[in-house]
Amino acid sequence: MPTGSYINGKWFHPKSERLVKNINPADPKDIIAEFPAGTVEDAHAAIQAAQATFPAWKNTPGPERGRVLWRAVNIARARLEEIAQTMSREEGKILKEARGEVLKGISLLEFFAGEGYRMHGKTMPSEARDTFTYTIRRPIGVVGLITPWNFPWALPVWKIAPAIVAGNTVVFKPAEITPATASLLVEILEQAGLPPGVLNMVVGSGATVGSAIVEASETRAISFTGSNEVGTALYHQAAKLNKKVTCEMGGKNAIVVMPDADLTRATNAIIGGAFGSTGQRCTATSRVLVAPDVKNKLVELLGERASQLRVGPGLDETSEMGPAVDEKQWKTDLSYIEIAKREGARLVTGGGVPPGANGGYFVEPTIFDGVTPEMRIFREEVFGPVLAVGVATDIQEAIKFSNAVEYGLTTSIFTQDINNIMRYIEDVETGMVHVNEPTIGGEAQLPFGGTKNTGVGEREMAEEGLNFFTELKTVFINYGGTGERNLIR
Ligand code: ADP
Repeated sequence: MPTGSYINGKWFHPKSERLVKNINPADPKDIIAEFPAGTVEDAHAAIQAAQATFPAWKNTPGPERGRVLWRAVNIARARLEEIAQTMSREEGKILKEARGEVLKGISLLEFFAGEGYRMHGKTMPSEARDTFTYTIRRPIGVVGLITPWNFPWALPVWKIAPAIVAGNTVVFKPAEITPATASLLVEILEQAGLPPGVLNMVVGSGATVGSAIVEASETRAISFTGSNEVGTALYHQAAKLNKKVTCEMGGKNAIVVMPDADLTRATNAIIGGAFGSTGQRCTATSRVLVAPDVKNKLVELLGERASQLRVGPGLDETSEMGPAVDEKQWKTDLSYIEIAKREGARLVTGGGVPPGANGGYFVEPTIFDGVTPEMRIFREEVFGPVLAVGVATDIQEAIKFSNAVEYGLTTSIFTQDINNIMRYIEDVETGMVHVNEPTIGGEAQLPFGGTKNTGVGEREMAEEGLNFFTELKTVFINYGGTGERNLIR
């Protein structure tokens, strides 16, 4: 695995004062690699390389650009286990989830490879006689992609694949704590025949490298996923420079459980949504809004299941939940547990560091009952294995409480009642809605993203995700022979 940055088709070690230690969160003594942190100059060199390559890449036919992604699909399949093991070791997620994430990235590569044949425009009738009007999609130029650590493989794929298949050239900055998986992705695209300069990666901090990418006049579009704090500041910074921006940020996703719900299925969905990936998904289930009649039974089922989850290193095949990604996130999780206790929520299970943590950043799967909308644990994103359960007396209250947060990413409702299902789909303020399944999951062909403070800009993945990376050009061809627009007035 390369351990540097990648500019203009070359791996190199930036001349840096600072080495970024790539640490296994299940065992912080296990140092995977040391990556020299990139500098502002490296970011500028990457941008220059991308800009110099843009004309040639833009003029490469779309299907040919897509073929690079197809070849990457085959290489990624052959290297699946290596990618999954690397990801599990540096990010902490259990191997089953890591393998699933590699496959998800492969589906995204497949989907966007095919988009190289499409990039649809539209034809529309003109108001004028003898005039042919239509739209075409063209790449934007150099685009900046900034990603977080929680999906270190699939998330970079879902930005890089549409960006390059659309004909853009890329400057990519992965999260500083997960550079190894990002490097594997870049290496695979290199092996797949991506020409030098099309994809450039600079490993480094957000404040230096990330900020330099956003500030540079050459980057015409920025796609960011990460925290609200950073995303909002980045959005303002980029807006001042009139850049196209998409930011996908936090979530505080609820599952509503109505009185007629199948409680066993609801329990499966909630446990998977709350504790899968150690709760470190933007689509994690972090709230349950349950009907009073079934609340005690549901809480009992949830408590039983959560307390039985085997918490351990992601690389151990028997583990069912891995550690928090690093010390900072671990401390955040533990501090929210204290906040919830202080606010008067009732601890059902978990609430601390499990026995045998051995210095790893482990947190017990934790459930609080009696959570009400004014509590911080109801409203704020923890990004850890901490679930808040509260009561909603009917569908109106379920909708009201579900919407009573600043975020709007995803949600789910468990019921058999078609009227309640339809009412919920209509009135809930989220970008994605599930019925009788977990809040998690996205598919390459389906738009992904949220409303309110969760996101700004175009949805990601799917055709919408590709559209973000294109400029629309409207064309008027007048074959009337007079040089004037022949409007009927
Ligand atoms: P998370 O903790 O979920 O990774 P962050 O918002 O802290 O969320 O980071 C997301 C990405 O944004 C990372 O790649 C990070 O390095 C980058 N980043 C952080 N600060 C800035 C900034 N000021 N400008 C641009 N990118 C940044």
